[in-house]
Amino acid sequence: MGRYFSNIVQSISTIWTGMNITLKHLFTPSITLQYPEERWEMPERARNQLFNDIDDCIGCDQCARACPVDCIYIETEKVGEDIDLGLTSKGTKKRLKVLRFDIDMSLCCYCGLCTYPCPTECLIMTPHYEASVYDRTDLLYKYAKPWEYDDLESADASKDTDKEAATAG
Ligand code: SF4
Ligand code: SF4
Repeated sequence: MGRYFSNIVQSISTIWTGMNITLKHLFTPSITLQYPEERWEMPERARNQLFNDIDDCIGCDQCARACPVDCIYIETEKVGEDIDLGLTSKGTKKRLKVLRFDIDMSLCCYCGLCTYPCPTECLIMTPHYEASVYDRTDLLYKYAKPWEYDDLESADASKDTDKEAATAG
């Protein structure tokens, strides 16, 4: 008989505890985020998707050397003194053609170590975090624009042809 009443008391106490929690949450504002209509604002120094402003990249390779997992692939080519590749937005002279600048974000551990040594500050970690893909190969981000050097090459080739013609003449 004692056990019977103790079970009743325990049940009432359990229901009371549960209802207390429910009531508490009934009057506190909801924190559920209606994603994707609503999004959390990222902290100021959040490390998410990397971005390289390739127009400011001088191909110095410092980022790739700092990367602990070797997921930055850079290929450059030196140009002759007579070819002007222009300046970065901060006035650094470009001396190398950046033919390849790929980052494999499937290997990246978001440590941010590559961004610190960048002399032109063109490699940054952005607050962008929605970068899921279905195919892993889509995580290889390619930033270089090798086709932009085509005009230089044709200008160089025509210079050589002119030189050859002048020598022949
Ligand atoms: S964030 Fe870290 S792991 Fe990712 S590319 Fe930069 S250095 Fe490499
Ligand atoms: S450190 Fe900066 S400038 Fe140098 S290759 Fe990397 S991104 Fe380009």
